[in-house]
Amino acid sequence: MARTLFEKIIAKEIPASFLYEDELCVAIRDINPQAPLHALIIPRQMIAQLSHAKTEDQALLGHLMLVANRIAADAGYGNAFRLVVNNGAEAGQSVFHIHVHVLGGRPLSWPPG
Ligand code: 5GP
Repeated sequence: MARTLFEKIIAKEIPASFLYEDELCVAIRDINPQAPLHALIIPRQMIAQLSHAKTEDQALLGHLMLVANRIAADAGYGNAFRLVVNNGAEAGQSVFHIHVHVLGGRPLSWPPG
C-alpha cells in the first residue's frame, strides 16, 4: 500500500514544522493554518481514519489528546482550544492517516462548518 503523506513527514522525507515528537506520535504545524495555532497530532502508527480504530488503539488515541493539551498549553492557549478529527471525505478528511487538529488563538464559533 502506498505510504501516506504523513508517514513521509514522520520519516522526515517531506519537510514540516515539528512542534513535538515522542515514541507514539508527532505534532506539526498545518501547512494551511485556520487559526494562529493549528497543529496536527499524528500517530506514528498508520490508522487511516478514526472509524477504523480498534479497542487496542484506545491508549494511543488517549495519548493524542493529552499531547494536544500540551501543544495548546505550550502555545499559550491552554484554556481555550478546539480538537477536530475529520472522519471520512464527506466530513472533510483529506489525508487518510488519522490526525487530531488542534486549533487555538482566535474565537471558535459553534456550530462548526
Ligand atoms: P484533514 O482534511 O484530513 O482533516 O486534514 C489534513 C490537513 O493536513 C489539512 O488541514 C491540510 O492543510 C494539512 N496538510 C496537507 N498537506 C500538508 C503538508 O504537506 N504539510 C502539512 N504540515 N500539512 C498538510
